[in-house]
This record gives sequence, structure tokens and C-alpha cells, in this order.
Amino acid sequence: MSIVVLKLPVVKRKRGDRPKKCPYCGGETFQRWGQVNKPVKDMRVRNVKVYRYRCCHCGRTFRYYPEGNNRADQTERLRLFAVILWKLGLSYRASSLILSGLNVLISFMTIWRDVQNEAQQMKRHNRWKPVRVLGLDGASVLGWGAKQGVLVAVDLGTGDPLAIGYVDEYNPQAVRRWLEPLVQQHGITVIVTDDLFSYKLVAEKLQLGHQVCQFHVRRWVGKTLKDLQETVPREWLWVLDEIRELLETLLPDGSKRLYALWKQLPGRHSKLDQARTPLEQVRDLLLRLSEHWHKYCTFQSEPIVPWTNNATERAIGRMKMRARTVRGYKSWSGMEAGFLLAGSQAL
Ligand SMILES: [Zn+2]
Repeated sequence: MSIVVLKLPVVKRKRGDRPKKCPYCGGETFQRWGQVNKPVKDMRVRNVKVYRYRCCHCGRTFRYYPEGNNRADQTERLRLFAVILWKLGLSYRASSLILSGLNVLISFMTIWRDVQNEAQQMKRHNRWKPVRVLGLDGASVLGWGAKQGVLVAVDLGTGDPLAIGYVDEYNPQAVRRWLEPLVQQHGITVIVTDDLFSYKLVAEKLQLGHQVCQFHVRRWVGKTLKDLQETVPREWLWVLDEIRELLETLLPDGSKRLYALWKQLPGRHSKLDQARTPLEQVRDLLLRLSEHWHKYCTFQSEPIVPWTNNATERAIGRMKMRARTVRGYKSWSGMEAGFLLAGSQAL
């Protein structure tokens, strides 16, 4: 049997040391100025001893809290535990109920505030974090995105959520407006996306390296080839096989080979208003793959770039799972907390 242990902040009942610096003036000598027994909400501790000190330099008094405590009623340990219950998928009310079973009475509104605060802390922590490779993907979340979904950004170095925006991923201007400040703030150099045209445009405009997720490419090309297999004249089926093999091996000079194949195929005969023949569809496919080939292979020259956008999809999956138990996020701040906290792989 293996036991997994959750590490929560330590909560001390009192502290033995004296303050080092006055929080107001930085002064270093103090007089003890009384003490209070502060009742706290926690799973184990009921009250803690808080000393007050008076600064000999500026004359102001302040409270010196034992580890794991601050001016809030609840300890750091309880605050984090409540956030974890929520991250695991419980509603605010259910989290409050579970805690009541541990003899901790804390309202669901307090837990809501705890979650919001944690998300804000996460945002501050993320703010200037260096991120080199960014995964981007649109997500449709229950209750959000009937017309327009949300766009999420994941640090592919760590797999952690970075930001979420109410942005239409099909609109290149909107994607750019949202992405540009992130690129500057974090020093992003490469993005990993599916092969939606808007991402290509934005990567070019912002001069970013670009890796197109190979799972996406294989999915849609695989499907296209399967359809063409039935319709393309037999003597040309070898071209489909060759495309398959090129995608399998992703050789850096694949683009040239695809272009050469394109030239071997007969040109377009159908009129513009006519449907394209199967062979013309193969031609279009060859050209499209040839043009974008370098975006499939970025990962080969830059070892820190993954060849799929799986980490981003996993973060979206976790966020959606969180949304399901609460029947969708009701507010943007709830949605943002859902992504930043529940989207993270760590508890
Ligand atoms: Zn002072």
C-alpha cells in the first residue's frame, strides 16, 4: 500500500524569536507591548498566541504572528486546504460541508474568497515569469463560448497555466492584441498551436518561432488521406503513401519533396466554379503541407520545443473537469481561477 501525503503549511501556536525589523521604519530594537490569545480557524489549532511589539525607533506598535498565521481568522493551512478541496472538484458549498466534518466552520463565501485570492496570487507570481515556449489553444467551456470560446496560454517549460483570455482564436487581430503583451512580459520566443491560419499570421507578425502540433496535423491529414484513398485514380495512390511516410518521419527537407510531388501531378483542369477533382485535392494538399513544413519541424532545431501541444490540452481538460462539477463557470473571475488553479498539474 502506498500513501500519498499532502504537504500543507505549518501552523505554530506561538513563536519564540523576536521580530528582526520594524514593518514601518525598519528599526531593529523593540519592546514587548502585550500579548493576545487569538482564536483561529484551523483543522488542529484553536487559538494562537500573538505578541505585540513597540518599535523603539518610530514608536509604532505591531503584531508579530506565529508561523502560518496572519491577521485573517483562518490559518494559512486551512486557506490552502479549502482551495485544494475546490481544485479537486468540490463546489464551494461542498468544500464548506467537508470542513464542517473536520470541526472547522467556515462559510462557502470565505472559501470563494480564498480561491479568488489564490488565483490573484498566482497571477502576480506569473506576471514576470520568464516563459520561452508558449502553448496556445482555444477551449469551449460549458457556459462560455457559444459564439466565441476562450483562449488559454500554457508555459510549456513547466506545463503550468499562464493566462486565459476571452478571445476568438479565429480572429488574428484579437489573438495578436492579447498575445503581444504576454510575449513582451515573459520573453516568449516560440508558440505551439494547432494549424489554424490565425496563429500562423500572428506568429509571423510578432516574429515568433512556431511549432504546429503534430497530433493535429496527423489527425486532419490522416482523415483527408483516408477519404482520398477511395477517390484518387489507382495509378496515383503511391503519392498518398509518400505523404504518409513524410509525415511519419518529418524529415527537414520534406518540403522540397512535397513540392517535387506537386510538380509531378497534372495541373488544374476543373473550372473555378466546379468542385475540384480528387487529384486536384491531392495537389492542394501537397502545396499546403510543403508551405507549412518548416512549422512542423521547429522542434527539431530547438530541443526545448515539444512537437505536440498536449500539455496545453491537458490543462484545458483539467479546467473543464473543474467546470463540470459546478455546472459551468458563472463569472469570468471563476473561470480564470478555474484555469490558473485547477488547470495546474500540482495540487
Ligand atoms: Zn519602527
